[in-house]
Amino acid sequence: MIQLTSLTKSYILGKSYFEVLKGIDLTIEKGEFVSIMGSSGSGKSTLLNILGILDSYDEGSYTLNGELIDRRLSQTKAAQLRNRYLGFVFQSFNLLSFKNAMENVALPLYYQKVSRKERNKLAEEYLDKVGLLPWKNHLPSELSGGQKQRVAIARSLIAKPKVIFADEPTGALDTTTSYEIMNLFKGVNEEGITVVIVTHEDDISKMTDRVIRIKDGIIVNQ
Ligand code: ADP
Ligand code: MG
Repeated sequence: MIQLTSLTKSYILGKSYFEVLKGIDLTIEKGEFVSIMGSSGSGKSTLLNILGILDSYDEGSYTLNGELIDRRLSQTKAAQLRNRYLGFVFQSFNLLSFKNAMENVALPLYYQKVSRKERNKLAEEYLDKVGLLPWKNHLPSELSGGQKQRVAIARSLIAKPKVIFADEPTGALDTTTSYEIMNLFKGVNEEGITVVIVTHEDDISKMTDRVIRIKDGIIVNQ
């Protein structure tokens, strides 16, 4: 599903050059439930943003679902690939504060020009899957952290992605809620979706089937 070969990424800071990813070789098979684990600053978000085609890389190669993701890909093509294959979940939920739970979940379908009636119907289905149908008319400010993350997960699923990328999805949650969210991801994975979780927490990574460790921009085991 995902293959990276000798992938590098640097940032230019003034006159100096900071190499964040120093030659990443990584394979993730279709249907896997994996975590990318490493301490703060090790390059996890940089790596996930490249995997999610939200950012470009410098050298090496990236193949997603058999398609070579060129580092010079246009924004339009990148957006098309993201819409077709990928779902995203973030630590800070990234919900629209003035839209209710149902509208937030429906949002990806709005960009796909699905009719309001159809997208709201599907949004209700996905809210139901994450146990939040009774909350469909509530605004994010009226939901707990765990509930917000459930809404974000429903939103990430509604366009039927092949891969879900989650960057520290439990980072803003207490332990019990974190485990509930991880169990939800497990259920998502059991439906056949490849799930990649970035975390710096050992207990969270242990809930996935495989832990990929990254240290100072290098994969130290996979
Ligand atoms: P992690 O998610 O593991 O905490 P990041 O991928 O966010 O790590 O960052 C890795 C390193 O790259 C850090 O030292 C960070 O300061 C640096 N970095 C990240 N993004 C940028 C950027 N846009 N410009 C310059 N340096 C960056
Ligand atoms: Mg990060």
